[in-house]
Amino acid sequence: MTTLRLAIVGAGPAGIYAADIILKAERQFDVQIDLFEQLPAPYGLVRYGVAPDHPRIKGIINALRDVLDRGDIRIFGNVRYGVDISLDDLKKHYNAVIFSTGAIADADLDIPGIELEGSYGAADFVSWFDGHPDVPRTWPLDAHSIGVVGVGNVALDVSRMLAKHADDLLPTEIPENVYDVLKASPVTDVHIFGRRGPAQVKFSPLELRELGELRDVDMIVYDEDFDYDEASKTAIKTNKQVFVIDKVLNQWRQRETGSASRRLHLHFYAKPVRVEGADGRVTGFTYERTRPDGAGGVEGTGEMRTIPMQAIYRAVGYFGSPLDGIPFDEKRGVIPNHEGQVLDDDDQLVPGVYATGWIKRGPIGLIGHTKSDAMETVGHVLTDQASWWTPSEPSLESVNELLDSRGVKYTDLDGWHRLDEHEMALGEPQGRARVKVVPRDDMIQVSRGE
Ligand SMILES: Cc1cc2nc3c(=O)[nH]c(=O)nc-3n(C[C@H](O)[C@H](O)[C@H](O)COP(=O)(O)OP(=O)(O)OC[C@H]3O[C@@H](n4cnc5c(N)ncnc54)[C@H](O)[C@@H]3O)c2cc1C
Repeated sequence: MTTLRLAIVGAGPAGIYAADIILKAERQFDVQIDLFEQLPAPYGLVRYGVAPDHPRIKGIINALRDVLDRGDIRIFGNVRYGVDISLDDLKKHYNAVIFSTGAIADADLDIPGIELEGSYGAADFVSWFDGHPDVPRTWPLDAHSIGVVGVGNVALDVSRMLAKHADDLLPTEIPENVYDVLKASPVTDVHIFGRRGPAQVKFSPLELRELGELRDVDMIVYDEDFDYDEASKTAIKTNKQVFVIDKVLNQWRQRETGSASRRLHLHFYAKPVRVEGADGRVTGFTYERTRPDGAGGVEGTGEMRTIPMQAIYRAVGYFGSPLDGIPFDEKRGVIPNHEGQVLDDDDQLVPGVYATGWIKRGPIGLIGHTKSDAMETVGHVLTDQASWWTPSEPSLESVNELLDSRGVKYTDLDGWHRLDEHEMALGEPQGRARVKVVPRDDMIQVSRGE
């Protein structure tokens, strides 16, 4: 019987689901899986993207943990592909590799002034409030008025985290440094801007409704945005999600406002034009008022409006990062592939190399989608036996020896358990589920029991 020695790079949901699916699949051979993760903790954006006040979604970690705790997947944490381990190394020790490295960078928003001080990417802010070890511990939250460009769920997460009172985040797992900065925030107004109308936004209705439940935050919507064209009216009639979004927004139109200390404004039909600045710092945001074009899109009206503000966040999408020796589509920020089989510049299959999750299909979709995605990729891994690599050093120990010889301080499943328990113990005295350990060195130290 053959043994498939499989490396998976990236221990987010896509990588963990891929490992689970392949181990449970009907097959004619054994499988040994090593999961490489650049961080000392697994779960990718479920730990470092999903907002801390979404415990139900964070709870997906329990299902992922069950997969790892079965013990039939080896984890090598704190091992970065491209730095600690290369494609040549993988070829030496494995028959194939699946890349599930996700996306963590911000997509660009190409408008003048976007480079000013006080202009930030949503992904960086998310990494900060979720305690990602590779971003600075502090965040300059000194603005009274803040803009957020984008009409997806990340824009909602960012706006909510900016507008919510820090004490209402205390029951969550937010790290201490994040609480301290949010607590001191002088913010009074957060403005969300979307190019199109209320019937075209990509918010999920639940997340939108949640904004309206924030303590001491008024929701401000503007009557001029609700003059719907036929395409919008049809969308409201025929699409349940759009119907609920419209209902929520209209409820907010009827609400009394004026008593809250913070306000969250929703500006539709607002096309970003320019970030205004003085002395290198953000002072405002200019947008062009758009209007429905009758076909579900919008067109410019030529009317420019400027709102004074001291900070602007662009939440216009995430973007994948290229990996050493692996083809990369610079436009889409993904590894080019056919159903997860990686393609080279001539659209030819690259033997032994696969992709799944956000790095395969781009940064859209929920955690659940990474499961169906993984099924497709795994299907090909299992049937591509003829093109697998032939490793010269296929033993389990050879991988540990390689990392040891390079002085890589890798962590394993037991190490993750140690860190997990440590974080939960930190939270216990305060009645919190956990308090995240943020500095990478501390995470490694706890994991390795040093
Ligand atoms: C702000 C935000 C909020 C979200 N909220 C929700 C939500 O509420 N509900 C929902 O269903 N979905 C939500 N999502 C979407 C969800 O997080 C993604 O669908 C999912 O995490 C994608 O999984 P992935 O495994 O492809 O990528 P990731 O989760 O990004 O995992 C990739 C892993 O690869 C590792 N990695 C990267 N490069 C390397 C390397 N060179 N070497 C080794 N390891 C590497 C990373 O450290 C990471 O652990 C949210 C996403 C974001 C950004």
